Amino acid sequence: MERMPLLFIGHGSPMNAIEDNEFSRSWIAVGKTLPPPKAILCVSAHWESMGTQTTAMEKPRTIYDFYGFPPELYEKTYPAPGSPELAARVLELVGADDTSMDLKWGLDHGTWSVLARLFSKAEIPVVQLSLDVNKKSQEHYDLGRQLKPLRDEGILILGSGNIVHNLRMVVFEDIAYDWALEFDGMVKKWILDGNHDPLIQYHKQGREAALSINSAEHYNPLLYVLGAQDSGEPVSFFTEKVWGGSVSMRSIRIG
Ligand code: ZN
Repeated sequence: MERMPLLFIGHGSPMNAIEDNEFSRSWIAVGKTLPPPKAILCVSAHWESMGTQTTAMEKPRTIYDFYGFPPELYEKTYPAPGSPELAARVLELVGADDTSMDLKWGLDHGTWSVLARLFSKAEIPVVQLSLDVNKKSQEHYDLGRQLKPLRDEGILILGSGNIVHNLRMVVFEDIAYDWALEFDGMVKKWILDGNHDPLIQYHKQGREAALSINSAEHYNPLLYVLGAQDSGEPVSFFTEKVWGGSVSMRSIRIG
């Protein structure tokens, strides 16, 4: 079986699920270049929990975890099946002490707004992995490493967040703060150099990093993707843009 690439998508606004724009067009284009996965394991910024959880239901619901958007967005569904089989395999890989099965969550917008573009038919089974609020950045990275064998089993590991994400500073204009561009560029360079230590130790990277990651839930999905990378794998970027001043839409394909 062909080894699956890894994806990190800078998801930004949930409107990207239904709006025709530079981001949604790019995701559609990238989706066409991917080998068809057997199933998808998504680590979304929008599911934080105590302990790591793995969705294990047959039919995950579409979750509308946002407020104040137009009615069309609440009418959009992503009826992909779940995969109790993949959830069980995740538990096997990371150990039952470290993760448990969930039957309540579903697909939050970090997952479905992106998958609606990458795989619009919603036929491929999807499992979500939560972000344990008690884990340190190194532990998120290590968990990604433990999930790496899935890539040889036809599973697409998808991280959905934003490298720079500071909603307190966001403006609804097409501008970019200097510090956001600076940190986004630093991250790009470290990824290209295969230098993951500063990416894990982001809290030691100065003012730009502190402003860019004022809460880490949108950044942490990147650590899972990098953890599942082998050194020397090809890396490419798309939607390389800082939007709204303080949100980086930078997306990454590895392998
Ligand atoms: Zn988000």
